[in-house]
Amino acid sequence: MTLDLTKYIASIQDYPEPGVTFRDISPLMGDGDAYRQATNEIIEYAKSKQVEMIVGPEARGFIVGCPVAYELGVGFAPARKKGKLPRETVKATYELEYGDESALYLHKDAIKPGQRVLVTDDLLATGGTIKATIELVEKLGGIVVGTAFFIELKDLHGREKIKDYDMLCLMEY
Ligand code: IMP
Repeated sequence: MTLDLTKYIASIQDYPEPGVTFRDISPLMGDGDAYRQATNEIIEYAKSKQVEMIVGPEARGFIVGCPVAYELGVGFAPARKKGKLPRETVKATYELEYGDESALYLHKDAIKPGQRVLVTDDLLATGGTIKATIELVEKLGGIVVGTAFFIELKDLHGREKIKDYDMLCLMEY
């Protein structure tokens, strides 16, 4: 039986600030069948791209990417915020959806040059987070062969920021 995954996304009005509707994936993760179905779709996509490594930004990029890496038998590298990675890193800065600037980091030895990389996150909004994650992979010589998300927020046009990359989104709002 195929589940309607949108039934497992909670929509919270005016969070984290007035006028914003936050899409919360925790009901999906909290249901074994729904989480497995979503993950399986990304596994099939990753297989079709002959992915050799997965990279996801903290923290929900891990939730999407890690079970896919486990199933494929490939590695996962976390892209993290400042001060979280203990060894030498590369850095990429980006603008946040709700203003401000932030940065993500990846360990310098996380990716081997020429490796085929899938970048994962729970949700594509303005595209800043995923663009920064892609930049980190490319700084290390990785080839981003695809990006995968549970959700795309169409109105924020993140897709345009990563139009040169293939993309899988399981749901759109
Ligand atoms: P972007 O950088 O503007 O594309 O924002 C995407 C990042 O912010 C992802 O890492 C998401 O986890 C997070 N994010 C932004 N909006 C939402 C939302 O409505 N629900 C869940 N996560 C969100």
